[in-house]
Amino acid sequence: MKICRFLADDKVHYGSIEGEAVTVIGSPFCKDDTVDKGHYKLSDIKLLAPVKPGKILCIGLNYRDHVQESGYDIPKTPVVFMKPSTAVIGHECDIVYPSMSSRVDYEAELAVVIGKRCHAVSEEEAPSCILGYTCANDVSARDLQPHDGQWIIAKGFDTFLPLGPYIDTDFDSSSGHIECRLNGDVKQSSDIRHLIFTPGFLVSYLSSVMTLEPGDVIITGTPGGISPMKPGDTVEVEIDGLGVLRNHVV
Ligand code: MG
Repeated sequence: MKICRFLADDKVHYGSIEGEAVTVIGSPFCKDDTVDKGHYKLSDIKLLAPVKPGKILCIGLNYRDHVQESGYDIPKTPVVFMKPSTAVIGHECDIVYPSMSSRVDYEAELAVVIGKRCHAVSEEEAPSCILGYTCANDVSARDLQPHDGQWIIAKGFDTFLPLGPYIDTDFDSSSGHIECRLNGDVKQSSDIRHLIFTPGFLVSYLSSVMTLEPGDVIITGTPGGISPMKPGDTVEVEIDGLGVLRNHVV
């Protein structure tokens, strides 16, 4: 199922997408069968970020080619940082270039959306805790990052986490092409099978530290090929099976 969150008739809804049709559903994070199943055309609604996360856990240095271009050693345990929920924006929304930075990069990433409260689950149990997957762009003020021990400043500006366009609950995260395009030019091109730490491992690892809750998001790291964006640019993240997440830099 492809799950979206959208604005229509001045209300926020969850919906399931089939082709160009969107059917209203209850929250995917709690059983709710009381919702009237309204129907909309995809072209008539405004998509929002498909989830409003409580926690956003971010994995750095999780593809070998990106570790090399960044000048680090291959990590033995996941490199973890966090983004605030106020960084989240949806498909076709604007990334605002902050005045504090003079280099703002895209980072195409696979995002895991937690569906069920879980604590200290095994890697085998992890898939049952995942609602689905979506595309993410871990926008990064690269020039601020070296002086920023926890990367919270460089990665935490408002609008620095585009998510979407929808969550696919049937997505197979063992492989799939991941790409970033800047103004139509391919800048990153890899496969999620190259992830050093897999989504299942990450859910197990992180849930051994903190309870993961429905709607929490884990973004899993970016492949090689990072470079800067500038105001006026259009950036697209595409993962096979998860659609295209498009945003504009202003
Ligand atoms: Mg990243």
